[in-house]
Amino acid sequence: MKNRVKIVLSILIILGVGYRLSGSQWKQEVKKPKNIILLIGDGMGLSQVSASYFFKDKAPNFERFNTIGLIKTSAATNLVCDSAASATAYATGVSTYNGAIGVDQQKNPVPTILEKIIPKNISTGIITTSSVMHATPACFYAHAASRRSYQDIAAFLPTSKIDFIAGGGTEFLDKNKREDRRDLYKEFQDNGYEVSNTLPKQTTDKKQAIFLAEDGMDKILEGRGDFLPNATKIALDKLSKNKNGFFLMVEGAQIDWGGHDNDTEYLITELLDFDKTIGVALDFAALDNETLVIVTADHETGGFTLATDDGDYSKIKPSFSTTGHSATMIPIFAKGPSENNFGGIYKNTALFQKMMDFFN
Ligand code: MG
Ligand code: ZN
Repeated sequence: MKNRVKIVLSILIILGVGYRLSGSQWKQEVKKPKNIILLIGDGMGLSQVSASYFFKDKAPNFERFNTIGLIKTSAATNLVCDSAASATAYATGVSTYNGAIGVDQQKNPVPTILEKIIPKNISTGIITTSSVMHATPACFYAHAASRRSYQDIAAFLPTSKIDFIAGGGTEFLDKNKREDRRDLYKEFQDNGYEVSNTLPKQTTDKKQAIFLAEDGMDKILEGRGDFLPNATKIALDKLSKNKNGFFLMVEGAQIDWGGHDNDTEYLITELLDFDKTIGVALDFAALDNETLVIVTADHETGGFTLATDDGDYSKIKPSFSTTGHSATMIPIFAKGPSENNFGGIYKNTALFQKMMDFFN
């Protein structure tokens, strides 16, 4: 009997080694994505994602992913992270303090993923439902010690070489509203941009900057409509013309604002708009076959939960435990070439390196 156990164990070990060998061979054959679409649901924790199952008739697009991981969100000097430190981690790989826009703990600028890939002739785009100068998008192209320096952040845009920009923020461009009286509209044009205040139906060969609100855009509840999915469609149409590849960041910014307001209806309508946008990205990637779609958040907002309604287990009563952020881990979803790199539990800074590896 003992011998038989030994034989069985030996066979298992041999099989195990064989599996690992073939596993590593298989890994070498995995192709790198040419394009990355990074969708960030600001403030979107696991309860927010779960809400998409309870407040939507159809299965949410989150369900189309097979590779899922968790991100540890803490900032370098704060256990509970803000959008600036988180987006700086994603865009630069550097862990920093809350409020930092593309700078390290000593307030020195650190190069962003866009600054690294634009010289490689990769196309880039940024779309958000906040102003383009708000913390999450800002960290991908600007460097500022404080997220509140909106005018300084805006001044990085005309020379950023980003191919497609869409969101709010006209009040930071207008020379009559800027302390330094710089006319950023003119600077955009001098740098080859077409600037508009409506979402175009078609793209052009020029770089496009589209500003649709003075600051943050309207809520879905106020009639924003399909801006986010539509802008994403237009951007994909434009950026995918580049044979060298593209990087597109799309932010559902107001999931966070619904959380801060402890307003369930606000949160869920923004979440479902973001889910619809995920669908646009996944539909594009399904046809394209060379695009990796990554969906994540930056931190959780509101301490949101889907608890029972006072002990009635047939009812959910969404509730909040803070008007600020929480330190809970946030989910990350990946679909496309090399999606397996994105499973597991890791720090927010790791996402930068995982993405950069594809462009090196
Ligand atoms: Mg944001
Ligand atoms: Zn927030």
